[in-house]
Amino acid sequence: MKALNPATNQPIEPDFAFGGLAEVHRAATLADDAFDSYSHTSLTARAQFLERIADHLDAARKELAARASLEVGLPEAQLEAEAAKAGVQFRQFADVVRKGRFLQLSIDPALPERQPRPRMDHRLQKMAIGPVAIFGASNFPISYSVAGGDTASALAAGATVIVKAHNAHPGASEIQARVIRDAVRDSGFHEGVFSMLRGSGNAIGEALVEHPLIRAVTFTGSEAGGMALYRRAQLRPDPIPVFTEMTSVNPAFVLPSAQQSRGAAIGDGFGERMLVNVGQACLKPAILVGVQGEGFDVLRRALIKRIGEAPARTMLTPGIHASYVRGLDKLESAGAHRIAEGGEPNASLDGQSMLWEVDGAEFLANPVLADEVFGPSALLVKADNAEELLAIARALRGQLSATMHLEPEDMPLARRLLPQLERRTGRVVVNAFSHPQEVSFASIHGGPFPATSDSRFTSVGMTSIERFLRPVSYQGFPDALLPEPLREANPLGIPRLVDGQ
Ligand code: NAP
Repeated sequence: MKALNPATNQPIEPDFAFGGLAEVHRAATLADDAFDSYSHTSLTARAQFLERIADHLDAARKELAARASLEVGLPEAQLEAEAAKAGVQFRQFADVVRKGRFLQLSIDPALPERQPRPRMDHRLQKMAIGPVAIFGASNFPISYSVAGGDTASALAAGATVIVKAHNAHPGASEIQARVIRDAVRDSGFHEGVFSMLRGSGNAIGEALVEHPLIRAVTFTGSEAGGMALYRRAQLRPDPIPVFTEMTSVNPAFVLPSAQQSRGAAIGDGFGERMLVNVGQACLKPAILVGVQGEGFDVLRRALIKRIGEAPARTMLTPGIHASYVRGLDKLESAGAHRIAEGGEPNASLDGQSMLWEVDGAEFLANPVLADEVFGPSALLVKADNAEELLAIARALRGQLSATMHLEPEDMPLARRLLPQLERRTGRVVVNAFSHPQEVSFASIHGGPFPATSDSRFTSVGMTSIERFLRPVSYQGFPDALLPEPLREANPLGIPRLVDGQ
């Protein structure tokens, strides 16, 4: 295949080869062969490996950003920042590995005198789940792609990794894969620690999810694709966990006092965040809910102005552009009223910004209005009163994030709204928008279905490592046979729970 430049709709050199089922099997076998040695590397050696990837990423940053920009139509400077972020992410995980807290060490010492029966010594640590298959996203061609957070957290956990590259950016994927493979080689690790596959159609991805040596899957993309792979994994003779991150409209609720005092700023800020990455972001705020009144009108005018001034910009792929156009038609058919449109498209894959409006009753009557339209489109919902605003929150499906804009006078309503949002999202934001996302210990990029397939985990942040870990308990072990972190003298000095304390 050749990459496509979405700005010109023309192919870009060079050719890239596709793998087939034989390559899936070879990569899975290599990942399995490498697993025992890689998952038992010392924490220091593993941290150094992650830092080496970061160093190589830094060295390749300009080349990577230039190629990614050609392939996805986003500005080069933005992609350089994304590449820098990817390097930082590997360094953050190196720190997590060195500190060792992710091992969640627990020791229940032997109680030989306990009645009616003695207790044997139990020691628990988390260890890597096995070889992992990762489906990279299309919309962040570095930080959610081959050298993205899924790969960083899986390698940090001690899992071996096979990435199914997204065909939207084959050259950028290739550069990232080389960076990681160089670091594997420089670290003296088995080559099966990391592989990347590229294929056409669904066959390669399906074979990967069904391969008996694969022990977990992560995916970022459409609900249809994510659920197809999820179902496939559950139908295996030995079902495996699949962590999909699929769809979210990240609703913003503007409470009456905030709307009255800051309506224009909130409307403008929402528009600005909605347009980031041409609206092709999982955290795009897509639905803004306010309560009818003077403040709402001010907010509405600011938002209309912002959207009206937005030029049409290149979207990621012909498929995503086509699905955006279908999404707009679907909103219109579902009764949404178009109240603003941005500049006209100049090229075939340009996405034109759109703003739609419905009232609360219309929104509640038609669930299609709450579906994600991936691209620069947003929906304004005018609730009649606070009770209808709460009803709208209750009608929403699972989300990655939700926002409340509030002033002190809004606290009683915020206290009623919050439990509804907690039940439906992984992250609740006050007086800001959900994009951008921090990569930190307390950040969550997850949420109830259909935002993800497993609301107990996050795909971004330091706790994303937990997706690739499982607990093992060692009972009655001689000290010399125990994993180093669990030995009596605690040679690594990692904090451990002893008898739950
Ligand atoms: P996608 O079509 O779901 O594809 C994602 C990856 O999964 C690709 O590598 C694709 O391989 C593979 N795949 C999809 N369905 C598969 C199946 N049934 N069997 C095997 N492999 C499968 O997502 P996309 O191309 O990135 O974008 C399409 C839509 O996804 C967007 O319009 C948007 O709605 C959504 N999206 C959401 C997010 C988010 O963060 N929530 C991010 C990006 C996209 P092939 O390309 O080889 O088929």
